Amino acid sequence: MNKEKNVLVMIPGPTPVVDSIRAEMARPIQAFGDPRFVSDYKKLIDDLGELFDCNGQAFPLAGTGTTAMEMAISNVTKRGDNILIVSNGFFGDRFIEIAQRKGLNVDVLSAEWGTCITPEQIEAKLNEKQYAAMTVTHVDTSTAVVAPIEAIGKIAAKHPETMYIVDGVAAEAAEYTDVDGMNIDILFTASQKAFGVCPGMFVVWASQSALARRKELGTIPEYYVDFEKWLPIMKDPSKYFATPAINLVWGMAESVRLIKEEGGLKVRAERHRKNADATAKALESIGFQILAQPGCRACTLSVCIYPAGVDDAKFRASMLDNGVVCAGSLGAYAGKAFRLGHMGNIGENEMITALSAVERSLLACGVAVELGKSVATYVAEMKK
Ligand SMILES: *Cc1c(COP(=O)(O)O)cnc(C)c1O
Repeated sequence: MNKEKNVLVMIPGPTPVVDSIRAEMARPIQAFGDPRFVSDYKKLIDDLGELFDCNGQAFPLAGTGTTAMEMAISNVTKRGDNILIVSNGFFGDRFIEIAQRKGLNVDVLSAEWGTCITPEQIEAKLNEKQYAAMTVTHVDTSTAVVAPIEAIGKIAAKHPETMYIVDGVAAEAAEYTDVDGMNIDILFTASQKAFGVCPGMFVVWASQSALARRKELGTIPEYYVDFEKWLPIMKDPSKYFATPAINLVWGMAESVRLIKEEGGLKVRAERHRKNADATAKALESIGFQILAQPGCRACTLSVCIYPAGVDDAKFRASMLDNGVVCAGSLGAYAGKAFRLGHMGNIGENEMITALSAVERSLLACGVAVELGKSVATYVAEMKK
């Protein structure tokens, strides 16, 4: 493919990066101790804490979402502890290996793909034995199922000994989250999903209880992801522990500014909800089935099961010819569905482009589709 060809990246991350964020990331480098950078970093740390209502500590650091998963587990559990992993798909399962390597006793609640573990199931499990922590994936990127994290938080509140860890990588800055208000002990996300920044930064939010649990543990085996190493830097970023991702700090700061300009997390969540519902209706109007059951559909992406007779590789190659990159599916749905990301700073024009490409790609795969039907459905839904 032509190196310069501009394609619309509609996968579940990385997501498109708008010009104002790109401009921040393209700024000339500054020293990490430069007072201008120190002040920018401090502001980002404080803004992220405030935006997500976390009275503990926000840690925006260099690394990806997976680094954040390790950071979450490392700071609140020790070898031999029990952990409950609530899994609604591939990313929920990723915690199993992380926890096993840490030497934790792992119990897993696994949902059938497309459905979601209920708060009642979690409550029953938490009443069986004492867990040091439990993990819940806010949006599992393999199934596009959203977990009821607020309702689960009410149960978590009855089990203060169990640290409630939420993987918000494919959710935060799109699905609504309030760390303290939902009794979350550790929340984390990454820059390249709904924040709409380039990959390379993650954010961990730790509640006061999570910080207290970390203190109780004494010295932990992990080094880079240790809260205790980073806490002095988060309070005073002129100090050094490991080099901050300078330009990503600026990119994230611009993303936060855009979120505030839009009206905050709630308004942004409503925009995503409306867009996701309209997208589902549009795709269903041309013969796709949405994997996630109604009532647990994420607003950040859709897993779209093909109408009969569509070849996955051919469909996605045709999407690319039409200027749109979408993702394949995972697990049992590999080859049977494609994944369409619609989070972050993606707007209606991008959605219309993507839906039109979907129609043309179906045609290329030999499916008789009425051109414009899904686009018209989408536009009509968005007008409501
Ligand atoms: C993308 C993703 C991750 C992994 O993040 P990386 O930045 O790729 O390491 C973890 N959890 C969820 C839910 C994700 O969507």
